[in-house]
Amino acid sequence: MKAEKFYADSMLGKLTRWLRLMGFSVEYATSDLSDDEIISHCTKNHLFLLTRDRELSLRYRESFYMESDIYLEQLKDFTAVFRPDPELYFTLCPICNGSLIKTKIEDYTGNLPTGVRLLQKRVFVCKDCGKVYWEGSHFDAILKKINEITKGSQS
Ligand SMILES: [Zn+2]
Repeated sequence: MKAEKFYADSMLGKLTRWLRLMGFSVEYATSDLSDDEIISHCTKNHLFLLTRDRELSLRYRESFYMESDIYLEQLKDFTAVFRPDPELYFTLCPICNGSLIKTKIEDYTGNLPTGVRLLQKRVFVCKDCGKVYWEGSHFDAILKKINEITKGSQS
């Protein structure tokens, strides 16, 4: 199944960050909108709704009811339906959903820990919030986890 953009309700913060790391564009509910407001927002913006609220999911056709409240289980359920594309991993900022721009280390003028400057060839800069990410042990750990999660659902 393919959906362009998602909207996650306020119960799904951790899932949201993981999905963004996997390259799924997810808008996160920041305030307590009413069910009607969520539905009208998603309809207007063509967003596929992810929710822990069964009632709400039944009212909106383009939605996915998250049965589990454990994010790893949610990720498994999600990736069984929406296949992640490894080409898109690390293209979206987990904090704000902005695009990450691959930047040569010598072209990045902001502050970086010395070790990062020495060891990394490039960094990933969020074009919206400016947060900087780099490869290394953190990326590896995330990739490993993603592979574990998606292993059972690959065909
Ligand atoms: Zn950002």
